Amino acid sequence: MKNSLDKATKAIHAGELAESIFGEVSVPIFQSSTFSFPSADDGAARFSGKKSGFIYTRMGNPTTKALEDALTALENGFAAMATATGMAAITTVYLTFLNQGDHIAGTDSVYGPSRMVLEKEFSRFGVQADFVDSTNPENIENAIRPNTKVVYIETPANPTMGITDIQKAAQVAHAHGALLIVDNTFASPYLQRPFEHGADVVVHSLTKFLNGHSDVVGGAIITKTEALYKKIRPVLNLFGGTMDPHQAWLILRGIRTLALRVEKAQENAGKLAKFLQNHPKVTWVRYPGLPDHPQHEIAQKQMDGFGAMICIGVKNGLTGGKTVMDNVKLFTLAVSLGGVESLIEHPASMTHASVPKEEREAAGVLDELVRIAVGCEAYEDLRNDLVQALNKI
Ligand SMILES: *Cc1c(COP(=O)(O)O)cnc(C)c1O
Repeated sequence: MKNSLDKATKAIHAGELAESIFGEVSVPIFQSSTFSFPSADDGAARFSGKKSGFIYTRMGNPTTKALEDALTALENGFAAMATATGMAAITTVYLTFLNQGDHIAGTDSVYGPSRMVLEKEFSRFGVQADFVDSTNPENIENAIRPNTKVVYIETPANPTMGITDIQKAAQVAHAHGALLIVDNTFASPYLQRPFEHGADVVVHSLTKFLNGHSDVVGGAIITKTEALYKKIRPVLNLFGGTMDPHQAWLILRGIRTLALRVEKAQENAGKLAKFLQNHPKVTWVRYPGLPDHPQHEIAQKQMDGFGAMICIGVKNGLTGGKTVMDNVKLFTLAVSLGGVESLIEHPASMTHASVPKEEREAAGVLDELVRIAVGCEAYEDLRNDLVQALNKI
């Protein structure tokens, strides 16, 4: 796929098979676990890597490859690897780059399990981890130790909408010989391409904006260089968290409308954020597109748009948040994001209810915080639904 093509065109065409079989327009689902070799010599050549060709679906499949090619084109990377879930992508990069005694420094408000798996599981193998507020690059610098191998950031981050300067994080990581890995799930490559700012590896939960229809889970790892790809691919194939072709086909189908979905959801989010700033039951609005967002300028510098995630504070704290949850009619009360339908969530009573209040608040998850994943419905319907629910406070 030509790099000069626009990202909206890439979303529609990248990953198409070089040669169609029957003139088909959509990439078929190659529902086959194994692939035959024309001869013993050919089989040997494929195994040794001298000849390209598929062997066994855990190690590669034509439909999955089509999705991987589309992701590579969208991120402007060297190559992509599709994984069973976003967490399979994240744990695979941890497994590849962290050895016993190594250290990783990360964003404190990353997706919970990305942090938990280091603190609960990788710690069993002697891997050390520190999490800091990476919106200030000095905090990353201060967290670096002689054994730091990876700097891991998520931007925009969850659920605080904090923005980390990718270029500065890359400078800090590279000055100490560490890799910069970026979770690009919240922005999607349509709005942010971390390789352009110095990242080495990008990870995604394809479950969110890239698939876009709240019907499949999936993940991906994209590398900037061939050397990094060659390190990660064998680890993924051996540990086995690869994607199956039917899952890949659904996600590739979702990607075809990425531009339309992200543009519409983002337009809705921008309007809602501005509207909510003036609602009497709303105490604050956090959206990277608002000039009062603390990292608004960094977002402007490294993103093509401000995305479709908004956090608001509502009056009456915990009770106020619950009131909104119980009264929305069009918004769906659910975690996740990036689908065509709008979702709403109250971290203090839901995803983060088991975290002690002090710890929660230190990470920015306040009682009054309501997270809104804006979808593609008509703006007026979304606004009216939120207004009637907020007015019940
Ligand atoms: C959902 C999510 C993940 C995990 O992805 P799964 O597909 O659920 O495994 C990782 N990072 C971010 C930012 C997410 O939103």
